[in-house]
Amino acid sequence: MIKGRSIHKSFGQLNVLKGIDFSVGKGEVVAVIGPSGSGKSTLLRCLNFLEEPTSGDIHFEEQLVSKKNIGKVRQEVGMVFQHFHLFPHLTVLENVTYAPVRVKGVSKDQAAKAGMELLTKVGLKDKCDEYPNRLSGGQKQRVAIARALAMEPKVMLFDEPTSALDPEMVKEVLDVMKALAHSGMTMVIVTHEMGFAREVADRVVFMDDGVILEEGNPVEFFSNPTSTRGKVFLEKIL
Ligand code: ADP
Ligand code: MG
Repeated sequence: MIKGRSIHKSFGQLNVLKGIDFSVGKGEVVAVIGPSGSGKSTLLRCLNFLEEPTSGDIHFEEQLVSKKNIGKVRQEVGMVFQHFHLFPHLTVLENVTYAPVRVKGVSKDQAAKAGMELLTKVGLKDKCDEYPNRLSGGQKQRVAIARALAMEPKVMLFDEPTSALDPEMVKEVLDVMKALAHSGMTMVIVTHEMGFAREVADRVVFMDDGVILEEGNPVEFFSNPTSTRGKVFLEKIL
């Protein structure tokens, strides 16, 4: 689905990604873990083409991503951020229907119908007319997921979707993500939720200092990381 080859990304003198090969297959769920500052968000933003890699190339469904097709590709990749980024002046339903109507030209009626179905899926049908500031963090994040899904993306990228939530709200968001994974969605998830990664991910990628140090089956990685830094990271976090 997405294949990045030898991705480098620098900000000025700072080399953040130092040659990353990363791919996610159709229907695959990949968890990206690693210490703060290791480049996880930057990698995700490169995959979503929010950042242009300094060098290396990215293929989306076998097509080289370039300036010419980047707009189309972006529509196919949904993204969910740590801090939700909902439109504060729009209701929950309007948040969900905004992009399909504005970007894809879907009719308002059709977008509202599809939007209500998505809100039902994430358990927020009854909040459709609320404004975001009246929602809890967990509810906001579920709206953000519904909003991304409204564009009918082929891939969903999640950047620490539960890190800004109070502990009691983490599960309601992870449950929505788990259902999405089971529905066959292709997903890349940066997370510190190791239990979730172990249970839901098909593959875990461990990043440190701008490189992928190891990757593989979650059960194997969590029980027996092969890199020393992987071991140290898990000892700190588990
Ligand atoms: P992680 O998500 O693993 O915590 P990030 O990808 O956010 O790591 O950041 C990796 C490094 O890149 C950090 O040192 C961060 O300060 C730096 N960085 C990220 N984005 C920018 C940017 N837009 N400009 C300058 N430095 C950045
Ligand atoms: Mg980050």
